[in-house]
Amino acid sequence: MALVVQKFGGTSVADAQKIVAAARKAVARHKGGDKVVVVVSAMGHQTDVLVDLAKQITERPSAREMDMLLSTGEQVSVALFAMAIQSLGEEAVSLTGAQIGIRTDSTHTKARIKSISTDHIMKLLDDGRIVIAAGFQGIDQHGNITTLGRGGSDTTAVALAAVLRADVCEIYTDVEGVYTTDPRILPAARRLPSISYDEMLELASLGAGVMHPRSIEFAKKFGVPVLVRSSFKDVPGTLIVAADRATSRPVSGVALAKDEARITLEGVPDQPGSNHKLFSPLASSGIAVDMIVQNLAQQGLADISFTVPADDLAQALDVTRAVAKKLGATGVSHDDSMAKVSVVGVGMAREEGVAGKMFLALSREGINVRMITTSEIKISVLIDRADAAKAVKAAHAAFELEQPEVDTAESSGTAAPPTKSSPLDVVRRLEGMEDLAVEDCQLDSSQALVTFTDLPDTPGVAADVFEEIGRHKLFVDMIVQSHPRGGRAELSFTVPAVDRDRAIEVAGRIAKARGATVANVPNVAKLSITGVGIRSHAGVADRLFAPLGEAGVNVDLVSTSEVRLNVVVAAEQGKQSLEVLRKAFGL
Ligand code: ADP
Ligand code: ASP
Ligand code: MG
Repeated sequence: MALVVQKFGGTSVADAQKIVAAARKAVARHKGGDKVVVVVSAMGHQTDVLVDLAKQITERPSAREMDMLLSTGEQVSVALFAMAIQSLGEEAVSLTGAQIGIRTDSTHTKARIKSISTDHIMKLLDDGRIVIAAGFQGIDQHGNITTLGRGGSDTTAVALAAVLRADVCEIYTDVEGVYTTDPRILPAARRLPSISYDEMLELASLGAGVMHPRSIEFAKKFGVPVLVRSSFKDVPGTLIVAADRATSRPVSGVALAKDEARITLEGVPDQPGSNHKLFSPLASSGIAVDMIVQNLAQQGLADISFTVPADDLAQALDVTRAVAKKLGATGVSHDDSMAKVSVVGVGMAREEGVAGKMFLALSREGINVRMITTSEIKISVLIDRADAAKAVKAAHAAFELEQPEVDTAESSGTAAPPTKSSPLDVVRRLEGMEDLAVEDCQLDSSQALVTFTDLPDTPGVAADVFEEIGRHKLFVDMIVQSHPRGGRAELSFTVPAVDRDRAIEVAGRIAKARGATVANVPNVAKLSITGVGIRSHAGVADRLFAPLGEAGVNVDLVSTSEVRLNVVVAAEQGKQSLEVLRKAFGL
């Protein structure tokens, strides 16, 4: 007998017929002898309707009342779902988040789960009932209703699967699984038979709306196998698991975050600690910052650029302007018509030239790349929003993602059944289930940092540079391109220290041909913090800037992903920085 959590999204319960059809799936499972917990979203676009209603009353509804309002959507659907099951002759009980005992913090409209009690649900399941749980909602320590953020029912489902030690969490939705990119943007996208937690975390957090990113944090932390599949067709879906099949591809998928904004703090006096002074108040405002890029200081002044979701722009600008004054920066600029396109794949760490291929594909479409950041398993570029669909298409085609993948477990007919994997050790030490989980901090002191200043800001420059780098078989690790100013951009990347001399020679030639300059090429150390929830928890980068600043360490490059935060510092400060960071993160 298995324990299964089934989650039905809004479109899957959009009307009475669909609710009954979904209920049949739960009933069939129950009749097969399994214990079944169902998590349901609000019907259709009901949550949007409620948000719109609130906006008709006031532009700034209080967050507490928003949660009270939005939680009603799920309360309607669980009751109807339970009735549907009862009408099919089985016993069912619907429960709100509070009735289940989903305890959250008090961050209304984006609350994080602290704990879930299982006794009540287990008893109901043992009594032969099907339990219908309201998605997306919880209760804080003062008894206030909270919600987990838009799309949060996925997170309720996987969190319940984690605490109930379910054998699988099935996510029923309006597509057949996780695709190489959003099939609505690109019909040529293909369903992936399976995908690793790390890749799914990246894709979801970089914009692939099919799963709420925080649900995958739970899946990874607690080792829950997740199966994403269609509500409407009985076809195989996508299994999200710890270790993916060996993939031959460097890139598994392309994600688009369509509504991004870029902010640049211009002319900041270059001294350790300025990053902290900027990112600390942003974190306190709950703003999750991505793509942090700092230019080399010129005449003692540096620029710091970063991206935020366009919805957070107004608030982020207020904070940044206040910081600019305090730091004596020369100005603040911003652009709210940006989009972020990312390619994600665990295979890219093994292969040379992946970044070059992506930049070339974009350049062939005449798309100008405004900023670049990379981590071990993703490359993100910031581009004009008007180019977004074109860029997704170009990146998808460049990595031949419309072609079926050979050699997968499914295509060879040996798809393994989902197995529960062991949870991260660090989870046992967490106070709240959704707390940031930092596993380790590693030091790699064998890199050299190449920086071009004054590269012309025209489409194709990055493609050009990395084509040449690739031709000389230089293995590039981190890449960062700053937001261009005055028509000139700055591009930095790291190479193995043993290749430093060759890199200097190649970079010199590249710079000469393009009227750019190569800064001196220092030996550097890369420090990597690994864990889960690194980007989604606002302020992780800041927890690192503060102690490094205090220790007098200047950070040259930063890159964030959901599972990793990398910083590059001078090689001679590597060991000291490692100690500082281990202490800062209690490792
Ligand atoms: P639900 O209401 O069931 O939670 P969502 O609308 O939240 O459904 O998520 C499903 C949608 O996610 C799909 O209709 C699709 O347009 C979008 N999507 C974005 N990226 C992807 C992807 N990589 N694979 C599949 N679907 C995606
Ligand atoms: N009903 C909520 C929303 O629309 C939660 C969810 O569907 O996951 O965002
Ligand atoms: Mg959803």
